[in-house]
Amino acid sequence: MPLTPRPVAAVLFKAACPDCRARFELAAGALRLAIGASRRTTFYSFTCPECGTAVRKPAGERIVELLTGGGVRTLRLHSTV
Ligand SMILES: [Zn+2]
Repeated sequence: MPLTPRPVAAVLFKAACPDCRARFELAAGALRLAIGASRRTTFYSFTCPECGTAVRKPAGERIVELLTGGGVRTLRLHSTV
């Protein structure tokens, strides 16, 4: 029996658009995570596939863990505040 590499399942993140209220699933590549010095500057962003709105939402510790673990591109912001 030949060994075939198991296809890597794409991680999908459930998200909703506050603008058009569409619900959808986004692949890690469609999301961006920015980690700032405080909670107020830690957020994730994506573009709504339905209406094209740029959505930005605060990311709590759990979300940060989920996103980084799922391979979302992370940007670390340095703040002098
Ligand atoms: Zn939308």
